[in-house]
Amino acid sequence: ALLYRVDGWGAPYFTVNSNGNVSVRPYGPDTLAHQEIDLLKIVKNASAPKTLGGLGLQLPLIIRFPDVLKHRLESLQCAFDFAIESQGYQAHYQGVYPVKCNQNKFVVEDIVKFGSGFRFGLEAGSKPELLLAMSSLCNGSPEALLVCNGFKDAEYISLALVARKLHLNTVIVLEQEEELDTVIEISKKLEVRPIIGARAKLRTKHSGHFGSTSGEKGKFGLTTMQILRVVKKLHDHDMLDCLQLLHFHIGSQIPSTSLLADGVGEAAQIYCELVRLGACMKVIDIGGGLGIDYDGSKSQDSDSSVGYSLQDYASAVVQAVRLVCDRKGVKHPVICSESGRAIVSHHSILVFEAVSTSSHDAPQISSHGLQYFLERLTDDALSDYRNLSSAAIHNEYDTCLLYAEQLKQRCVDQFKEGSLGMEQLAAVDALCELVSNAIGVSDSVRTYHVNLSIFTSIPDFWGISQLFPIIPIHRLDERPAVRGILSDLTCDSDGKIDKFIGGESSLPLHELEGNRGVNGDGGASYYLGMFLGGAYEEAIGGVHNLFGGPSVVQVSLREGPHGFAVTHAILGPSCGDVLRLMQHEPELMFETLKHRVEEFSSSDGGSSSMALINGLACSFNNMPYLAAASSCSLTAAG
Ligand code: PLP
Repeated sequence: ALLYRVDGWGAPYFTVNSNGNVSVRPYGPDTLAHQEIDLLKIVKNASAPKTLGGLGLQLPLIIRFPDVLKHRLESLQCAFDFAIESQGYQAHYQGVYPVKCNQNKFVVEDIVKFGSGFRFGLEAGSKPELLLAMSSLCNGSPEALLVCNGFKDAEYISLALVARKLHLNTVIVLEQEEELDTVIEISKKLEVRPIIGARAKLRTKHSGHFGSTSGEKGKFGLTTMQILRVVKKLHDHDMLDCLQLLHFHIGSQIPSTSLLADGVGEAAQIYCELVRLGACMKVIDIGGGLGIDYDGSKSQDSDSSVGYSLQDYASAVVQAVRLVCDRKGVKHPVICSESGRAIVSHHSILVFEAVSTSSHDAPQISSHGLQYFLERLTDDALSDYRNLSSAAIHNEYDTCLLYAEQLKQRCVDQFKEGSLGMEQLAAVDALCELVSNAIGVSDSVRTYHVNLSIFTSIPDFWGISQLFPIIPIHRLDERPAVRGILSDLTCDSDGKIDKFIGGESSLPLHELEGNRGVNGDGGASYYLGMFLGGAYEEAIGGVHNLFGGPSVVQVSLREGPHGFAVTHAILGPSCGDVLRLMQHEPELMFETLKHRVEEFSSSDGGSSSMALINGLACSFNNMPYLAAASSCSLTAAG
């Protein structure tokens, strides 16, 4: 556990149990010892065949814990409630969840359900997200906010106004000045009084990777001059009372409370100015940015961490708003935040399997092979070989390496010219590897091949070099014997993970107990987990090489032998499903192949054509990931 810093990034939800497996503590620090869930047990249960009482799901697998989600929401609310209470703040906190972080039906529905007791709402940034938020909030608290962000056209604005007609507490946040004309026009047409928010471009700038949305040149929001024009136009239309919310977003993963307080303080000044100008202000919406400690360092200087706790964050926000409003004599506004990462990151774990490692066969070269090799070398190459031997006898390591490299290059040149065969090329590779091993400079980092697509499941590693804690979920009572990097299934050299939390370029890993191989049939399984990826990764992931998303199971604590129950199991997209995403028609494709089978099997007797056709049909229904040979529909059919 120490080796993988589990206590740092994992607390309070993940720990290592006495069996050496990762345990999940769904209620955080309130979890009792008997309520911990052994992650390996879930994986075994989900992946065991149905005939053996399992769910028969193939890995990779996303395991969701709704109880963790509930605990995150309650912790956020408690942190603000405590800050409000202890600072004598005169209004309440009510957050919204930005659905873009994970639009999954169960995630959104759970957040609405768990948050309805404290008016928790949703934030949408596009038309489909708005439709999703509108329908979900029909089951939420009537006071819950529905914050409409993002670039908007007439249809988006009409939808938001319809939501208001449906008594959903909807706020249209102006991201661009031009949106106001459409809001005024359509609200008059639909005879509905809008609630309007303005997104301010703050001067405060977050300089980290996620700060590009902040500062005067940020992508979103209104400049000071634009806000003043919005106020004037609303006044001219007798609608200034509609302007009720001020929104800003400093950027995701805000590193420190000092930057946070700086930004919130600036926004609070704008808020007070809007009150002075006659707007009927009620809410200050501080956007997202509440950070996650991905590497366990709790340091504002690490790109993968932040230097504050949930409570520090809430206290800094409340204090910054209170100070400004008190100084200006302005009534304390309701504080809203749009935390996404901090709410959903912990609640899901991606589990995948390492199926094989790069070969580490000891290089071998026989005296006969060596003789044959030497006979073919040019004089220059032969001289390199002799110099190499002499340096080796005198223990001159650097010289040895130099001649080995030179010899190898000459042999490669000879091979390209056609004067050396493949056997000699293999012999020089083996010779150079023997030299490196003997000198102790060989590259000992192994490549572990994992049954996963990084582009689909960890896109932020590929896209923005974001690091997530990745560790084996079992055998943690056994010292890892090797170091490795992870290479995925895609035919793309970017499909590898070679940077890990703590700045490591490889991960301590255990020897596979027999290579599982691409067929996944030999040896014992070696499972790895990617943690804290519940926000953004599922929503952003693509279908590179047509690998779709993993299967998903939802797990809750239960009395009984397992200590848990799988409440939902959802199969990941099949080959047919992912083909359909690229406009292919799997049904037609199958028909074409079926005719082809019938055409050719009629000429050779056609005895097994039915079995082949059934096998092809199964291939369209199976998942794109590596599966055991025993589940191959085509050979089973044969
Ligand atoms: N609100 C807005 C407007 C955003 O752009 C974002 C993310 O970038 C969020 C909320 C969520 O931020 P986070 O996930 O850092 O809480």
